[in-house]
Amino acid sequence: MSDYKLLINGELVAGDQSMDVLNPATEAVLARCSRASEGQLNAAVAAAKAAFPAWGETSIDERKRVVNAIADVIEANANELAQLLTQEQGKPLPDATGEVYGMAAFCRYFTSLDLPVEVLEDSDGKRVEAHRKPLGVVAAIVPWNFPLILMAFKLPPALIAGNTLIVKPAPTTPLTTLRLGELIRDVVPAGVVNVITDANDLGAALTAHPDVRKVSFTGSTATGSKVMAGAAGLLKRITLELGGNDAGIVLDDVDPKDVAPKLFQSAFQNSGQVCIAMKRLYVHESIYDEICDELTTIANDTVVGDGLQQGTRLGPLQNRMQYEKVKELIEDAAQHGRIIAGGDVLDQPGYFIRPTIVRDIADGTRLVDEEQFGPVLPVISYSDFEDVVAKANASPYGLGGSVWAKDLDRAYAMAKKMDAGTIWINQHADLNPAIPFGGSKQSGIGTELGAEGLAEFTQLKIINMAR
Ligand code: NAD
Repeated sequence: MSDYKLLINGELVAGDQSMDVLNPATEAVLARCSRASEGQLNAAVAAAKAAFPAWGETSIDERKRVVNAIADVIEANANELAQLLTQEQGKPLPDATGEVYGMAAFCRYFTSLDLPVEVLEDSDGKRVEAHRKPLGVVAAIVPWNFPLILMAFKLPPALIAGNTLIVKPAPTTPLTTLRLGELIRDVVPAGVVNVITDANDLGAALTAHPDVRKVSFTGSTATGSKVMAGAAGLLKRITLELGGNDAGIVLDDVDPKDVAPKLFQSAFQNSGQVCIAMKRLYVHESIYDEICDELTTIANDTVVGDGLQQGTRLGPLQNRMQYEKVKELIEDAAQHGRIIAGGDVLDQPGYFIRPTIVRDIADGTRLVDEEQFGPVLPVISYSDFEDVVAKANASPYGLGGSVWAKDLDRAYAMAKKMDAGTIWINQHADLNPAIPFGGSKQSGIGTELGAEGLAEFTQLKIINMAR
């Protein structure tokens, strides 16, 4: 069994402090792990800084070999990592297994990309080239809903571009990341990847550290704005993937029976703790009752429980704070709408909330306007197509959105009017490492994934030669 040490300069180091990690399905202590001090944070940054010149000068092929070796290690240890992920995060084991293999697949995707020198002009008098250079030390700060896959948005492109890294998982889900650090120690040169943990107390110091050149952050909008402020002093590069309140809009021509399971999955996957979960659902009045009834049936049939138990479809909320927040939102929604499924917690230890559907609710209520980040979905009736788009766009967030229809031309026309980083049609939250991803408005700044996601880990450098 691992003792969950930090990875600093290629060495496994006990934290200056330690902390308990709970299993959200039982509320029992799952493990005690290392917690870094500010001195250890500084040591990790110093190691990454020292490793950068050599790593930045290696060939991209060598860096791809290392990233592929990381993917090999992940796949070879997939069962252990998935078990651990379920126990610390709460998600059902098949989902955790998918996340582990997903991380390996994201690593392999980025090894398919190159950073060629682009020739912008090659004339008698002039040659102009665009080079993509690494930035230096990158901080990768990750939240607790998808500790591995969200790390995979950052680690492989950062390394392939030639940067060195400090990875910091969320305080309530540090174990899988620490274990991964231990497993990749032998395949990554010392100092190139460092893993530190904290109790929500080192983020500011990491962000503002003078030797960190870029912060790649995924988390809430409130913290993202602190990261931006912390990075401002030294004009660091930042990529922010923040909160969302994705609207799904169902047009009047769908088959409710066909579409309802897909809507349910879009909203409740990972117990709703997904940045791009569908968080408010607008349904045309002509099929509103039918969709509500179908969703209720699915919610009532959904098995909620410990993610390690076979048959569990939805696990617990990941931590007590989120559990209390979602319960509060449900209580508030009960005053403004009608709960037709769920609304209750399981009578056992663990942060379990049954999938909850709220109908006859409107914009202007907390559940519709705020990001719930939990297993509760407001279903809002609409009659006017222009008006529903205006409501979808009225949010300060703009991460994703979706339109559901048989008539793809109508859906496409509506998708073009919606303001968000991604609009899906007849699906929601389809993620692929080759497709760029990022939010509009307060859902973020910058892009992850795809060639654009790789480019964000580089500095564009022009060589402009007169001859
Ligand atoms: P959070 O903002 O509380 O924490 C995210 C990370 O930031 C953690 O590692 C935390 O320790 C660290 N942190 C805390 N204070 C910091 C500071 N001052 N400076 C730097 N880092 C600091 O978010 P969370 O509650 O862990 O995650 C849930 C949120 O993340 C939701 O809003 C969700 O929508 C969002 N999210 C967004 C995406 C996306 O891609 N857009 C993906 C997943 C989650």
